[in-house]
Amino acid sequence: MLGHDHALSGALAFAAVAPLLPVTGTHLAVAAALTAGTGILPDLDEPGSTIARTFGFLTGAFAWIVHTLSGGHRKGTHSLLGVAIMTVAAYFAGQWQDSAHVTSGHIQLWWHLVPAGLLLALLFSAGFRALYIGGHHADLFGIGLAALVIWQGWDLEKVTPWHVSVLAVCVCLGMLAHIAGDMLTHDGCPLLYPLTRYDFGLLPEPIRITTNKLAERWVISPLLLAGLAYFVWRDLGGHALTATQHLAGR
Ligand SMILES: [Zn+2]
Repeated sequence: MLGHDHALSGALAFAAVAPLLPVTGTHLAVAAALTAGTGILPDLDEPGSTIARTFGFLTGAFAWIVHTLSGGHRKGTHSLLGVAIMTVAAYFAGQWQDSAHVTSGHIQLWWHLVPAGLLLALLFSAGFRALYIGGHHADLFGIGLAALVIWQGWDLEKVTPWHVSVLAVCVCLGMLAHIAGDMLTHDGCPLLYPLTRYDFGLLPEPIRITTNKLAERWVISPLLLAGLAYFVWRDLGGHALTATQHLAGR
């Protein structure tokens, strides 16, 4: 599946569950942008992918390390174990960020912000690139937004009822959305890697899609866009508004 569809599916996944968490307003916009980035995070195991090219040779080299450690492309990072490891890593990056004590413009222990800051800069920049937002300045927007979010602690908002930071939730949701997307294609995903290399799929073989072919461009992409638009409209209170107008009209 293409990078921009993975990014869209991540944002859609967050917008779909936002009322359950509940996350609203600026926090919702930030979290949806973040989940667009985590929607392409699993492809960090492929040195040529969108996310691996985000910061040139820096992320390229990192992708090569991930590729080696995770057993190759579409292996460890496309498994449930990979999702669990990344979610826990994001959780602890958030905990460490939280312990930096940013109070009224004064930071103690600034280096505690570094792991979460790097992760956010990568995810925002990669998400913007995948969605063609910001053109050549996508990375600048991504880094700027990461700095603002870290400063405000927006990624650490605890979502009920689990009291987990929104950062960890975004990593988990985006990666799961990515894996579901790849499971619509002929390749499938090795969900239980490294226990078994069997590639699981969501559709019967004859109707699975091929990346960047007609079905993805004319069915999957428009459906993702429409779904995202609907959930954002609903999250912004469109539902309540229509109901009120309906009542007022009677
Ligand atoms: Zn993938």
